[in-house]
Amino acid sequence: MSLTDDLYREIILEHFKNPRNHGRLKVPSLTASGANPFCGDELELTLSLAGNRIEEVQALGKGCSISQASASMMTEAIKGKTLPEARDLAHRFKAVMLENAPFDLPPELEDLESLEGVKKYPVRIKCAILSWNTLLEGVEAYTKGLSQATHVEGEEGDRPSLSQQMESEASPTSSAPEEAGAGVDSKQEEIRAVLKTVIDPELNMNVVDLGLIYGIDLQGEKVNVTYTLTSPGCPLGPIIKGQINTALGRLPWVKEIHSELVWDPPWDPRTMASEEVKTELGIW
Ligand code: ZN
Repeated sequence: MSLTDDLYREIILEHFKNPRNHGRLKVPSLTASGANPFCGDELELTLSLAGNRIEEVQALGKGCSISQASASMMTEAIKGKTLPEARDLAHRFKAVMLENAPFDLPPELEDLESLEGVKKYPVRIKCAILSWNTLLEGVEAYTKGLSQATHVEGEEGDRPSLSQQMESEASPTSSAPEEAGAGVDSKQEEIRAVLKTVIDPELNMNVVDLGLIYGIDLQGEKVNVTYTLTSPGCPLGPIIKGQINTALGRLPWVKEIHSELVWDPPWDPRTMASEEVKTELGIW
């Protein structure tokens, strides 16, 4: 069974607009909070337990549609379950998202399947599993006798391996400008066109549309490019820099290239990426 992109987006948006079990329990047995700094997602879970059964669960958060929809679906999935059952569900869902395990969750949890489509965008996987990781940490802390747990995405473990990221092949665009005019604007356009052949392997999208190119400065035959990466932990820095320099070197009139990696301001796809990329990334 596989859902179409349209259908999964519809299900995700429906949960985002009408989150189930939305709020914060007044007297929770267990509280856990989590964050995904990459996307700005935040989540607080409160659970009330009878023995080890989850009687009530509420989620309160902010962030992208995927993270919040995932939390909504998770609360539906774990309500009434025991803590070990909920933990098992979390591990099975994460296996689907991170290890390509087959989706074999019970039919009443089929909304979760809509999140499987997110796997195409590695950066969104963190959004989709934030609620489940927060739950796991909360349950673990609770069983260890603590009542508070905090989870922050993006440090360890959850990141797809570099080899997975590199599977995506670069597909150079063919949008070279028609005339090689001498104007600075057309040269800027030429540079943007060749930089569009530089693909961020993690997202499989070009660095121009992602908004990673912060500045193109021309001084005669010298080009200064400032660029950033999607996250400071990105292991692809040297690769991207090399690709930028190679791409610029294809322009015959470019004699000198300076490319500089900068972190200020931090990359924010919500304001910097093209509309097309935002749709691809699931930022609605
Ligand atoms: Zn997110």
